[in-house]
Amino acid sequence: NGKVALVTGAGRGIGLGISAWLIAEGWQVVLADIDRKRGAKVAKALGSSAWFVGMDVAQESQVAMGVAEVLGQFGRLDALVCNAAVSDPRNPPLAELKLSHWNQVLGVNLTGPLLLAKHCSAYLQAHRGAMVNIASTRAHQSEPNSEAYAASKGGLLGLTHALAISLGPDVRVNAVSPGWIDSRSPGERRQAPLSAQSHAQHPAGRVGTVEDVAALVAWLLSDRAGFVTGQEFIVDGGMTRKMIYLD
Ligand code: NAD
Repeated sequence: NGKVALVTGAGRGIGLGISAWLIAEGWQVVLADIDRKRGAKVAKALGSSAWFVGMDVAQESQVAMGVAEVLGQFGRLDALVCNAAVSDPRNPPLAELKLSHWNQVLGVNLTGPLLLAKHCSAYLQAHRGAMVNIASTRAHQSEPNSEAYAASKGGLLGLTHALAISLGPDVRVNAVSPGWIDSRSPGERRQAPLSAQSHAQHPAGRVGTVEDVAALVAWLLSDRAGFVTGQEFIVDGGMTRKMIYLD
């Protein structure tokens, strides 16, 4: 389609799945990741429609430089997917939680998307583009010791609607909240397959795949979603709709 998308945290997992899906739909995709070695390798393997730019999304100078590189290379930006995150939801028990941990998780998961939006907004507005933030069902429900991650994803939902109002009508901004997605590599999955029980506990009968997320992101970025903005879309196989009573 000749359009350019920037996907953060694209060196592996869901971000890589989104990038591959968008390339298959005809996008030129810029993969951004803090892991420059893996990111460059992965982008090379995806072929000529993929390009890599290294950045730590929590550092404004790196975000600004990375976005400038994208514009220098392609001269336009039509879509932004903020997927990079400190993705391990666990933090130490509350009494031992260090402020540095909290700040790091908030810095990557929440400040990162803000910085990307800030530095991309003029270019997205110029082409009536779209933005998708990858949040989590953990914005709505928790396990013990997940304060930083849950708060970062809850904050991201607030940031999503704030940006949708600030950047509209030119730019649509939505959030996708995955549930349990098996974002491991095929090799990792072969080594430690998930139990039948883990699949069966989902109303949809299985744990999710990166393609389950990518398909929705691609739709939200397309003109077919032209009347959809400021919203959250949950992709969790129905888990957040399930009641559990053990007796
Ligand atoms: P992952 O850990 O497999 O991959 C994350 C990628 O982001 C890595 O390539 C990593 O290098 C990169 N990254 C980390 N910090 C960065 C930084 N500061 N700057 C730039 N890049 C950075 O994660 P995943 O499982 O693919 O998850 C992707 C997104 O989906 C995350 O936002 C995560 O919170 C969300 N999510 C995942 C699940 C799941 O079950 N996998 C569920 C809900 C939400």
